[in-house]
Amino acid sequence: MNEIKGIGVSEGIGFGKSLIYVKEEIILEKGKSKDQILQLNKYNEALKTTEKELKHLISHTNETMSQDESAIFQAHLMILDDPEIKENIEKEIANNEYALNAIHKIYSSYIDMFSQMDNDYMNERALDLKDIMTKLIYAVNGKKTIDLSKICKDTIIISEDLLPSEIAKLNKKYIKGIVTEKGGKTSHTAIMARTLEIPALVINNISKLVKDNTDLIIDGNKGVLISNPSNKQVLYYKNTKTKELEFKTKILTLKNERSKTKDNKYIHIASNIGTEKDLKHALEVGAEGIGLFRTEFLFMDRKKAPSEEEQFEVYKKILSSFPNHKVVIRTLDIGGDKKIPYMDFPNELNPFLGFRAIRYCLENDDVLRTQLRALIRASYFGNLSIMFPMISMIEEIRKVKEIYNEEKEKLQKKSEKISNKIEIGMMIEVPSAAIMANDFAKEVDFFSIGTNDLTQYVTASDRMNPKLINIYTPLQPAVINLIANVIKAGKNNDIWVGMCGEAGANSLLLPLWISMGIDELSMSSSSILKARFTMKQIDSSKLKKWKEKVLLSKTLDQVKDSLKVHSYEN
Ligand code: PEP
Ligand code: MG
Repeated sequence: MNEIKGIGVSEGIGFGKSLIYVKEEIILEKGKSKDQILQLNKYNEALKTTEKELKHLISHTNETMSQDESAIFQAHLMILDDPEIKENIEKEIANNEYALNAIHKIYSSYIDMFSQMDNDYMNERALDLKDIMTKLIYAVNGKKTIDLSKICKDTIIISEDLLPSEIAKLNKKYIKGIVTEKGGKTSHTAIMARTLEIPALVINNISKLVKDNTDLIIDGNKGVLISNPSNKQVLYYKNTKTKELEFKTKILTLKNERSKTKDNKYIHIASNIGTEKDLKHALEVGAEGIGLFRTEFLFMDRKKAPSEEEQFEVYKKILSSFPNHKVVIRTLDIGGDKKIPYMDFPNELNPFLGFRAIRYCLENDDVLRTQLRALIRASYFGNLSIMFPMISMIEEIRKVKEIYNEEKEKLQKKSEKISNKIEIGMMIEVPSAAIMANDFAKEVDFFSIGTNDLTQYVTASDRMNPKLINIYTPLQPAVINLIANVIKAGKNNDIWVGMCGEAGANSLLLPLWISMGIDELSMSSSSILKARFTMKQIDSSKLKKWKEKVLLSKTLDQVKDSLKVHSYEN
């Protein structure tokens, strides 16, 4: 059988050739070399291979991308040929260093020097040097690096794992699917794949099951990967894809409508975004504002944190794009599966239970203060709601509000133009905050329920572990009951309650959130029109008894059965 079963983490169907993407760690040689000539030859061969690889990239990018792209590789060629660098490496080899160690030592010294300079241009050059060093070291080891951003034929990437920063580089036009061994529906890699509308699966041991350059079909809906498909399978999937596209075209007509139920109850459907680039898609589908801007992506894939000015420009652009809707911007939520190399993170046994998000920001309050200043200044250009992640104690929310007020006062003294209606809210994603929601509600203007983390903490199941998908689900009775109480606490204290975790986009759960009185759902732009379509079929006035029955469920199966009664799957 050519069907490999996995977990679908991003919907859709894609056709392409497999590309096995292996990330090699650089492991240095131990001790000293005994053969200088051999090492020098290895270095010279690596130089030739890398030169060839770069020349290929130059002609390729000239054809498929812009002159700017190929200029980057021209510059890399010049660095590769730099006499000073070459001479230093040769000296190391003459001192009995292995070629690999010599390349690593000399390049690292330049990388360190450039990245420590207080100059963005030089910091960028450090990244270039790192790129060339990796290519050279791979060449010494007889391997080739793969630049994911340069893929330009229909490809399905197979990898143990892909970092959010790697996904951000992908060209959606050619990447037809992603299959990883690690991760789950709410890992950030999966969330980003959904944003880009790239089908994605998680399959155990997949790199061993599929060979490079094999014809594949990926089915993110059913969670299946098909290798060397038969004509019958190709036909079946082509038809299914056509039907999917027809449905997409049909719901596109809803893009200018407001999101409301059959009985005319309005519930905002906003967009979750990670970068400024995601704005376009949010506007195209008629998102009713931004319910979550994950600002940590602004901090990734670079050498140092973005300045206040840089952040201000991004926030201003997003706020001015939605003059009639709220824009919820979350302060830096770093840690867990989102790491930033230039920020000093301890190695932790349980990063999701560790020094994350607000915990990091309260200890490094200069980072938080810079971000808050940029946000407060940008508030003038729209309807800003600032949201704090991972709040687990009342002390934390009080402390961040104190810092916020201090920064705001300083800016007011400088006569900076500031909106007078900035909202302050928090994520409800930690059980302690959910249990004490009634008390937290008195501290903030809104809640946004983060079901991705809340589910993992309530059920003690890692959101990244594919083995736990039957436990890690927001359908668990404990999770839905806790969410019902959070929404009730919000209502009792007259604050609005949104949901920005992935469960907000789950069509099976949509009627339940509506019956509980949720005010806003925020999701990937790719899910908005479908949710709006589903919402139109729901009569919220008829859900009360049903909701009570669902909440009385004791088992996961009971929840699933009860939800089927109000299922609006197309
Ligand atoms: C969540 O935890 O539900 C959430 C929206 O935040 P993130 O996925 O970024 O952790
Ligand atoms: Mg979270």
